[in-house]
Amino acid sequence: MHETRFMMGTLVSFTIVGMPKSAAEEAIHAAADEMQRVEDVFTIYGTVDNEIKRFNHAPLGQRVRLSDEINVVLHTAMRIQNQSHGAFNPALGALNQLWGFSKTPPPKHPPDQAIIEEKRQDLSHCLHEDQQGWWRDSAQCQLDFGGIAKGYAIDRGIHLLKKHGVEHALIDAGGDLRVMGQHGEHAWRIGIRHPRDAKKLLGVLHLKGDVSVVTSGDYERFFIDKGQRYHHILDPQTGYSSQRSQSVTVVGKRAMLTDAWSTAVFVLGKDAMKIVHKKPFQVLWVGKKGEREQSDGWHMLVQ
Ligand code: ADP
Ligand code: MG
Repeated sequence: MHETRFMMGTLVSFTIVGMPKSAAEEAIHAAADEMQRVEDVFTIYGTVDNEIKRFNHAPLGQRVRLSDEINVVLHTAMRIQNQSHGAFNPALGALNQLWGFSKTPPPKHPPDQAIIEEKRQDLSHCLHEDQQGWWRDSAQCQLDFGGIAKGYAIDRGIHLLKKHGVEHALIDAGGDLRVMGQHGEHAWRIGIRHPRDAKKLLGVLHLKGDVSVVTSGDYERFFIDKGQRYHHILDPQTGYSSQRSQSVTVVGKRAMLTDAWSTAVFVLGKDAMKIVHKKPFQVLWVGKKGEREQSDGWHMLVQ
């Protein structure tokens, strides 16, 4: 059973094997609805009203209550911000919107340097929480869950499939995915895209059980201006697209974590291998010149 839906700015495909068609269909619809709900809760784009947009426009210092669900994801994001020495930052919404990579058509030139400089200031510790709720201490401090919410949505989708009795499935949101069980007699086979040649693969992973694979790349939303590539993964230190990587793939159980860490490692570059080394992930890093580095257990995933 296979179905696709357009969500989170990408085509999301659901594959279920080893289950009667009608039950599989019902499970997919429940999972897809849940993922759409998650998108609506976390998005900073479009016209839906949500708590995050309200927070982003609340007066400075005013407390805003965020739902338990947002709290969990925000605390996770801030933990990863801390562990990645600020490379991952869930508060760069204003900077991200200034660049405008999510617009159609995408921009052709970078914004004015002085405005980038203004939006990048004071983002590292600008979010605060107390008994009354969350508040922000600068106008450019705006939540952006673009680096983590897709992973969280995939986790929720898998959760819903499990609740419907599904044992073998794949949810693929434009290359960011999570599998469960296996594909018939075999492992799930997952190709990792080459960052500079869409027809080539960096490798094929063979996965069984509960595993997510998330990639952050500079080839998804980008433009080239005067020979320089600008893309949607921003380095909070400079306010510009991070220049240290072409792509980073992280494999681990929860897609919320592999999603955020793929973005964090992308920004940090090769040095981040030391940080993720201690975590239950496998990582493939591709640098600016196409050079590669992989974690010790990566070869076990490639057969
Ligand atoms: P994709 O969404 O294409 O899978 P990522 O997971 O790497 O790619 O997330 C990129 C998105 O995350 C951006 O569109 C933006 O919303 C947000 N973002 C960009 N830079 C950062 C950063 N340094 N830390 C956290 N989020 C970021
Ligand atoms: Mg990410």
